[in-house]
Amino acid sequence: MKLLLHACCGPCSLEPLRLLREEGHDITILFSNANIAPADEYARRLDTLRAWAESESVPVIDDVYEPAAWEAGAGRVGETALHAAGGNMEQVAIQPALREARCRACYRLRFERTAQRAAARGFDAIGTTLSVSPYQFTEVIHEELERAAANAGVAALFEDYRPFYDEATHRSRELGMYRQNYCGCRLSDAEAAAERDLRRRERAAERAARLEEHAAEREAEEAARATRRAERQAYADKQAKKRAALKELRNPQPAPLSKAGRALEDPAFHRHGKCL
Ligand code: SF4
Repeated sequence: MKLLLHACCGPCSLEPLRLLREEGHDITILFSNANIAPADEYARRLDTLRAWAESESVPVIDDVYEPAAWEAGAGRVGETALHAAGGNMEQVAIQPALREARCRACYRLRFERTAQRAAARGFDAIGTTLSVSPYQFTEVIHEELERAAANAGVAALFEDYRPFYDEATHRSRELGMYRQNYCGCRLSDAEAAAERDLRRRERAAERAARLEEHAAEREAEEAARATRRAERQAYADKQAKKRAALKELRNPQPAPLSKAGRALEDPAFHRHGKCL
């Protein structure tokens, strides 16, 4: 089958290309990603894809870069969702439901263009590398690919490549490919930053809780040691008293003398024979 494969980036293209080639398809890659922002990020992803595709002898078509088209559709949907979330980027980042409509609009734009280019250039079918990522909406990708293909009169060759994500990650690292840390649009960039910040704060809170727990444990141990020390001291005091009492019993002190007795003990009494 003569296939126009929509590619979002180099790393995500590795496994789909390998698998589709094994199936015997005649593949051309289309880089149609108006979603990517800023422009130098677009250029970097395209350069990475091109360099690898050349080494694989796969032709690459670079679609016109029109970020305004993304802003008019997916961008507007994304801003509406962000507004509904009270402008809380962190919430949008951690709640996929708040991103789904925006990503659907984004897929639609890219697949419609892919399908139109495919129909215009005589391709039989379109496919996409987007379904490699477990962070995408796989079913939505499937629906939008089918929709775009049907509208343009070409076939849709959808495959769920998620089981090959780890292999794609491993191979792209081995090849030293540039690997981006956000999906592509400006909102996903801000969301990824918000999520990283959230995870950092969570890790810091966990560390603080662990330290607090250890401090409380140390305090409890110290209190237990102090109690044991006090008990030992009380025991030693008691034993000392007992020993003193026993000594007293064994060596009783003479009883104190009366006045007459003290007079008798006085040598003056004996010198003068009478009390002075
Ligand atoms: S997160 Fe990715 S798929 Fe979703 S709108 Fe942004 S670039 Fe498109």
